[in-house]
Amino acid sequence: MGKKICVVCREEIKSGKFYRVKEDRAIKLIRAIKTRLGIAQGNELCICPKDIEEQKEKRKKFEKELIIYSIVAAVVVVVLGAMPILTGNINIGAIFGSLLVGVMIVLLFVVFKYVPAVDAESKVIKPAKKKRKKR
Ligand SMILES: [Zn+2]
Repeated sequence: MGKKICVVCREEIKSGKFYRVKEDRAIKLIRAIKTRLGIAQGNELCICPKDIEEQKEKRKKFEKELIIYSIVAAVVVVVLGAMPILTGNINIGAIFGSLLVGVMIVLLFVVFKYVPAVDAESKVIKPAKKKRKKR
């Protein structure tokens, strides 16, 4: 693992208390995609205590936006999927294509706008112990 970087202020956390983000499926998926694209930074995603409330607010906002995007995606799928049916020209390819468009909308939103949840448990980086001088 690389540096511990706060996802809010982008500063490296070197000591003291910090929080980790929840390693959920979305995080793993995003990491896999970014590794494939060669844009993964390999940092450990953390949150410093001063930004914890802000991160929680951002997460709430993200969850609302995700619902909105999912509704938009569903509407797009229905509209695109209904078109060939309405024109009496049912085409499995077109229906499959509209589903793909819907999935892409949600996936792109999640990959580029994802706000991770905060792990409940806080962690502490112990400062490096200074060597005791022999008397
Ligand atoms: Zn921070």
